[in-house]
Amino acid sequence: MELRLYDTLTREKRLFAPLDRNHVRMYVCGPTVYDFAHIGNARPVIVFDVLFRLLRHLYGADHVTYIRNITDVDDKINDRAVRDFPGLPLNEAIRKVTEKTAAQFHADVAALGCRTPSYEPRATDFVLPRADGKADMVTLIKQLIARGHAYEANGEVLFDTQSMPDYGALSGRKLEEQRAGARVAVDAHKKNAADFVLWKQSSAAEPGWESPWGRGRPGWHIECSAMSAAYLGDVFDIHGGGLDLIFPHHENEIAQSRCAHGTKTMANYWMHNGFLEVEGQKMSKSLGNFVTIRDLLDVIPGDVVRLQMLMTHYRRPIDWTERSTSLATSELEEWAESLHSHFNFPNEHKPAEVAEALSDDLNTSAAIAVLRELHVAAKKGGLKEKLVFSSNCKLLGFKSLHKPGLFRFGVSGMNVGDVAIGTYEPLIKKLRAAIANDAPNDVRAAILSKFQKDGLTVQESNNGDLTIVRGNEADANRKIQELVDARLAARNAKNFKESDRIRDELAALGIVLKDGKDANGKLSTTWEVAR
Ligand code: AMP
Ligand code: ZN
Repeated sequence: MELRLYDTLTREKRLFAPLDRNHVRMYVCGPTVYDFAHIGNARPVIVFDVLFRLLRHLYGADHVTYIRNITDVDDKINDRAVRDFPGLPLNEAIRKVTEKTAAQFHADVAALGCRTPSYEPRATDFVLPRADGKADMVTLIKQLIARGHAYEANGEVLFDTQSMPDYGALSGRKLEEQRAGARVAVDAHKKNAADFVLWKQSSAAEPGWESPWGRGRPGWHIECSAMSAAYLGDVFDIHGGGLDLIFPHHENEIAQSRCAHGTKTMANYWMHNGFLEVEGQKMSKSLGNFVTIRDLLDVIPGDVVRLQMLMTHYRRPIDWTERSTSLATSELEEWAESLHSHFNFPNEHKPAEVAEALSDDLNTSAAIAVLRELHVAAKKGGLKEKLVFSSNCKLLGFKSLHKPGLFRFGVSGMNVGDVAIGTYEPLIKKLRAAIANDAPNDVRAAILSKFQKDGLTVQESNNGDLTIVRGNEADANRKIQELVDARLAARNAKNFKESDRIRDELAALGIVLKDGKDANGKLSTTWEVAR
C-alpha cells in the first residue's frame, strides 16, 4: 500500500518514504500547559493519533517514534502561577500549574481514545545541556551564534533572518513583505523586523536559567528545535501541528534547526490540520463559545468527539455544532448495536479497508465512509463481516463500541413508581459519559449520590444500558432473580400458566427474558432490562 501525504512546504501530495526505510519519525507540537485544553486543541491530537495508528499499521508498532512535547515554560504559565498560588515561591507555583494541567490534558486525550506518544518531553528539561548529551536549547543557540545566524542585542539573543536566504519558504512570506508590514513595530535593537527571540532575560520575578547570556529563558520556537533533535535527530520524517503554527512557529523552527545543524531540511513532510469553529464562529472567550475538552467529556463519550472530528478531512475547517454531535452519537449507537458482543472478540483481520482510505493523505472523511459501508455489510452478514467492521473501527481508535447503551438518548426506569424519570435525563447523560470516559470514581459517586438522595439507584448492563431502579440495586436484582428462578421451576414442573404469569410480572417491571439451554442441556434463563 502506498501512503501519500500533503506537504505544506512543497505544497503537493507526495509519496511518503521514511528516511530510514524501517522506521518512521514524527514530531507534533503539543499543548502549552496553563489551562484546560479546548476542543480546537483536540483536533491535532486526534488527527495525528490517527496518523500514528496508520504508520504503526503500515510499518509495525515498534517502527514508529512519535514525539509530542509539553510546553511548560511560557509567560501565560507564569501569570497563572502568580494568580492561583500567590503564597508560593514562583518555581513551585509554576510546577503546580504545569503538573495539574498536564495531568488534565492526559486524562482528556486518553478519554478521546488517543494512544500515548512514544515520548512526551517537557521543555524545561531541555533548556540546559543534559547529562545524557541529548540536544538542548542553550547549545543550539550557541551553535546559531557560532555559525553567524544569531546575535545578541539588548540582553536578548535574536535569530538573524537575513542570514538565511530562503527564510519564509514554509509560509510563503517574503522577508521584504514582512519588513514593509512591520515598519512601525520594528524594535530598534533588531537587525531585521522579522528577527525573533531565541533567548530573553528574566527578571527576578520570572523563571530563569543561568546561561552565557545571563539569567533568562528561551523563546517558544527553540523548544521544538531542541526536543525534536533530541529524540529524532537533525532531519526527520514528519512534523505536524495546527494551521496557525505555520507562521511564525514552524517557520522559525525550520530556520533554527537547519541553520544550527547546517542541513537543507528539518522535516520531509510538514502536515497541518485545519481549524475548528463552533456553530459557524471562531472560538473565543469573548464570544462565550469557548468549549474545553473537559466540558464535552462531562456529557458525551470520547468516541463521539472522535467521530465528529474525523468526519471532516483533516485539512478542512470543521464547524462544531450540537447537531453534528447528535448525529455522531446516533451513528455510534447503531455501530455499537451491530458490534457489541463482537467488538472485543479475538480478531485476526487486518484493517486494510480503512488503511487504504487513509493512505490518500490521511483522508479521514473517506475512512468514515468506508466504515459506513462495512457497517452495512456487518448488519447483513455474519461473524466475519462483523470482525472486519470491528477491526477497522479499532484502527480509527474507537473504543466503546461494545456498549451501545452509552450512546443512547433518553432514560429508562424500572419499578420506580410515579417518579418522573425524564427529569433525570441530564444526570444519566453525565453518567454515560463518565463510564465511557473512565472518569475517576469520585465523579461517578457524585452523580450516583444524587439518585440515592431520591431513593433511587442506577443499574448498568453489559451493554452499557443504564436503568433507574427504586431502592438498592442489590435488592432489585435479588427480587428479579427470585422471580426468574420461580418461573424456571414452574416451567420445569410444566406449570405453564404460572410461568407465563411470572413472565408478565417481570415484563411489567421492564425485564425481558431469554430462554435457552445451559452446557448440560438443562433449561436456563437469562434476563436483561428492556430498552
Ligand atoms: P496551543 O496550545 O495554542 O499552542 O495549541 C496546541 C495545538 O492546538 C496547536 O497544534 C494548534 O495549532 C492547535 N489549535 C489551537 N486552536 C485550534 C483550533 N481552533 N482548531 C484546530 N486546531 C487548533
Ligand atoms: Zn512546536
